[in-house]
Amino acid sequence: ILSFAIPVTLSAIGLAGWWLGGIAMQPIRQSYDQLQRFTADASHELRTPMATILSNAQVGLLSECNPQQRLRLENIVDDVKLMSTLVSHLLFLARYQGQVLETLRPVDLGELVAELVEDYAMRPIASHVHLSYLLPESAIKIQADAELLATAIANLLSNACKYTPPQGQVELKLYTELTDVVVQVSDTGIGIAAQDLPHIFERFYRVDPERSPSTGGFGLGLAIAKQIVESHQGKIQASSTVGVGSTFQIFLPLAYRS
Ligand code: ADP
Repeated sequence: ILSFAIPVTLSAIGLAGWWLGGIAMQPIRQSYDQLQRFTADASHELRTPMATILSNAQVGLLSECNPQQRLRLENIVDDVKLMSTLVSHLLFLARYQGQVLETLRPVDLGELVAELVEDYAMRPIASHVHLSYLLPESAIKIQADAELLATAIANLLSNACKYTPPQGQVELKLYTELTDVVVQVSDTGIGIAAQDLPHIFERFYRVDPERSPSTGGFGLGLAIAKQIVESHQGKIQASSTVGVGSTFQIFLPLAYRS
């Protein structure tokens, strides 16, 4: 009897737990969805007035004004540009949260990486470091949203450049490992302390902004990269040693290979 009664009781408890859990989760899920929708709508609505403020300030700068007025207008332009970047980041995060992308196309990752690095090498942000890339002999194609994936990799590249002192090395490497293709960005920069490492992918998390005030940033770049990678069914991880450098890896399932 026991051998029958125990599994039946356990299954009943399990079923009840699952059912109650489902009911308990429902309001949380609903408020979460509402919050996400609110962020998306609010960000979207803010775009138009911000564009108006920006163009008015820019037109003001073209007209006759004294140095003090000019300085005020320049400050407005700078602040509104920063706000627009923040708003588009928030809109992006709200839009793609928890979504698996459906608009995937075959993407040659080697080509994407090479183009990105060559483009970055020309930018002032990378002018102080030695930037290089390493590709596998044969092409790797996966199903992806090329633009989004490029954004994720670019966020890692720009961080690697921002947090690496002059004459440092930044390397982007593409290789396959078991069932994944790996995009790895490593640098010889300032590194990230062990206590900060678990938090860097959280939204608005910045490691000691005092340490690197000149780098600006909102602490959203890695959260965006993580969301993009997860929407491709992938994983992102980081390892680092303070004063030695950091390595970020994006793992994308090769099952997505075209
Ligand atoms: P931010 O806009 O501040 O760069 P991110 O989300 O891109 O925001 O990064 C979060 C924090 O992680 C950064 O503030 C920085 O302290 C740390 N970080 C990210 N990448 C690196 C790196 N390659 N080297 C050192 N620190 C890094």
